[in-house]
Amino acid sequence: MNDSRASAAANFGYTVHENASLLDRTTFRVPARAATLIDVHEFDAVPRLLEQAGAQNREVLVLGGGSNVLFTRDWPGIVLALRTRGLDIVEQHVPGAPGDAAIVRAAAGETWDDFVHWTLAHGLRGLENLALIPGSVGAAPIQNIGAYGVEVGEFVHAVQAFDRTTNSIVRLDRAACAFAYRDSLFKREAGRYLIAAVDFLLPRERALRLDYDGVREELAAMGATDPDARAVAHAISRVRTRKLPDPVTTGNAGSFFKNPIVAAGVADALRHENAKMPVWPVNDGHAKLSAAWLIEACGLKGFRDGNAGVSSQHALVLINHGNASGAQIWALARHVMDAVQARFGVRLEAEPLIV
Ligand SMILES: Cc1cc2nc3c(=O)[nH]c(=O)nc-3n(C[C@H](O)[C@H](O)[C@H](O)COP(=O)(O)OP(=O)(O)OC[C@H]3O[C@@H](n4cnc5c(N)ncnc54)[C@H](O)[C@@H]3O)c2cc1C
Repeated sequence: MNDSRASAAANFGYTVHENASLLDRTTFRVPARAATLIDVHEFDAVPRLLEQAGAQNREVLVLGGGSNVLFTRDWPGIVLALRTRGLDIVEQHVPGAPGDAAIVRAAAGETWDDFVHWTLAHGLRGLENLALIPGSVGAAPIQNIGAYGVEVGEFVHAVQAFDRTTNSIVRLDRAACAFAYRDSLFKREAGRYLIAAVDFLLPRERALRLDYDGVREELAAMGATDPDARAVAHAISRVRTRKLPDPVTTGNAGSFFKNPIVAAGVADALRHENAKMPVWPVNDGHAKLSAAWLIEACGLKGFRDGNAGVSSQHALVLINHGNASGAQIWALARHVMDAVQARFGVRLEAEPLIV
């Protein structure tokens, strides 16, 4: 460990590292330090740790797998890294649920992809399209992770969280989580809730969603003529591995920009000027544009500024070619946002938390 001081408080459910490097704690792998980094193994320790932080007037940042965070500077306060474990089927057969369904509870610190495979191994469906998304279970509701035509919010039954405004554990059902595209109550009220565990309502029978680009083709290439949910997870993992840079070798946070949602009239005008621009209608007179298309149209796919670059595999992904700092990656992100705005009048929004 390259931390200057570390002290174990294992009996209290956490471990403290002073002046700790965060380089290996985020998938961008940029240099940054936390004045104090605390690995939390038991969620019961959280209220006391927050109380102490409050008494010392120190800011707290919660970290899961670090796959959606960009540190552009050191963190002068406390980073709480949630590493709590636990997977459980809390209700085998849920009365009233359509078909046969179970409720599964997963602790925040569980690895998302391992959890997906655990549910599939238990004969539960629904999360297969979300296989191989990096990060932890606790972060999944924050931006309502989504991929291949599915968003996690569809399957969240309830979230158990520590509410910092009332200093109590609360249970928020799906409606209260207010999920939207890459958004939720937790993102809108950033810092208020520390998610302890998530309950998922998962059916045992459910039609597979295979319509997203490339899924059927991959299943065919695998020779899966009558695929089950596990085959779908496997096919999607294969496609993702080919399409996205691997954070183990190339620092990145997946899609760096959200697909912009604009008024339908704006989308129509842009489409008029750019016949090939993809436009997806969404509800109440709005339309979603492809951020990747906009960036590529600006000639920025594969663009590089020193060690910070736009991936040549996928225009939405910003990458750390080597020793880029978080500030350099953020400067590149703003360059991309400015270029898209100048050409199309649309401001892109960053998806990761920028510290
Ligand atoms: C290669 C790659 C591909 C990706 N593909 C996708 C994709 O297809 N779809 C998608 O939606 N995302 C994708 N992502 C983004 C990322 O995987 C998700 O956002 C993931 O949910 C982040 O999990 P994490 O544990 O790493 O969160 P972190 O990056 O550690 O944290 C993200 C945010 O959540 C907060 N947070 C984390 N845990 C908790 C908690 N327990 N309680 C309260 N707040 C918390 C943090 O403070 C921060 O604001 C991708 C990332 C990479 C690197």
